Order: sequence, then C-alpha cells, then structure tokens
Amino acid sequence: MAIFLGLECQLCGIATKGSDRLFDTEAFVWPDSEFYEYSDSYMHWDC
Ligand SMILES: [Zn+2]
Repeated sequence: MAIFLGLECQLCGIATKGSDRLFDTEAFVWPDSEFYEYSDSYMHWDC
C-alpha cells in the first residue's frame, strides 16, 4: 500500500489527506511523454 499522506496533489499543489479521495498513478507514462510529470504521483479525484 502506498503511503500518500502529506504528498502534494500534482494538479492543485495542496497536500493530500487521508480523508481525500485520491488517484494514485503508476509509472505508466514514458519519460518522453508530455504527461510524464503526472505519472507515479498523486492527485485528488476532484481535481
Ligand atoms: Zn488536488
């Protein structure tokens, strides 16, 4: 299980909380992709 408490959402920059619905991405994007910065990171579902 990933530990995501205290990490910032990649979209809004606000630290995630345990009560937030979160979307955590695997490192599924190739490094040359424009979406690479969003891989292997955490975002709020609402974002
Ligand atoms: Zn967010």
